[in-house]
Amino acid sequence: MIAPDLPTAISSLRDLIEEAQVVVPFTGAGISTECGIPDFRSPGGIWTKNRPIPFDAFMTDQEMRDESWRRRFAMEDQFGGAKPGRGHRALASLYRAGKVPALITQNIDNLHQASGIEAKDVVELHGNTTYATCLECGERYELPWVRKKFEAAGSHAPDCGCGGYIKTATVSFGQAMPVEAMERAEELARNCSLFLAVGSSLVVWPAAGFPLTAKRAGATLVIINREPTDFDDLADLVVRDDIGDVLGPFIVH
Ligand SMILES: [Zn+2]
Repeated sequence: MIAPDLPTAISSLRDLIEEAQVVVPFTGAGISTECGIPDFRSPGGIWTKNRPIPFDAFMTDQEMRDESWRRRFAMEDQFGGAKPGRGHRALASLYRAGKVPALITQNIDNLHQASGIEAKDVVELHGNTTYATCLECGERYELPWVRKKFEAAGSHAPDCGCGGYIKTATVSFGQAMPVEAMERAEELARNCSLFLAVGSSLVVWPAAGFPLTAKRAGATLVIINREPTDFDDLADLVVRDDIGDVLGPFIVH
């Protein structure tokens, strides 16, 4: 069913959440746009102008590593101050109420953690761009440290003490999906009573398979997204209103 209007969407969603024992949210770029972070994949988005640097290019070319960090710091200047939006805060409220054991996200912006969900309960399919790790030894590096080194070296990306390359903790194109996160997401999808897909166009595989997994395992499926998705026919409730407007009433202070 496609919700005919916003009040109907909110009351239907409220009923489904109340009925559900276990709610598992799955979020994509749409939940963060009201925080000022654009959907990089959208037409006119950053990725249509600046093609993403594939993982193998990062690994084989110092110039690509430098360029990757140059872009990252430019992004930090634009979006670094972003705060959680109404969608993030509503999901954090459900988490605090014990309805949500953990959340799956395609986002790399750390806003779910910033909204109060413990990092261990945010399953990040595409990693996290707010810190970096060494690709060899796994050592964690904070961005201000990387930036200081980068600038001191005349815009050259620093390496780890072990000789490994330092990269944001994101999953680049061509880089393997994180096995542990994928398994955890699969398990969450399989064991929820309500799967809440929020702000994802559900086109990026394998991540987009989780709503299907949840539905097949017997969960109720709700899709909240501005644009239609390929899974709308399968969903029990489809909401095409603004995410912040739909989820705002679920914020508990
Ligand atoms: Zn290292």
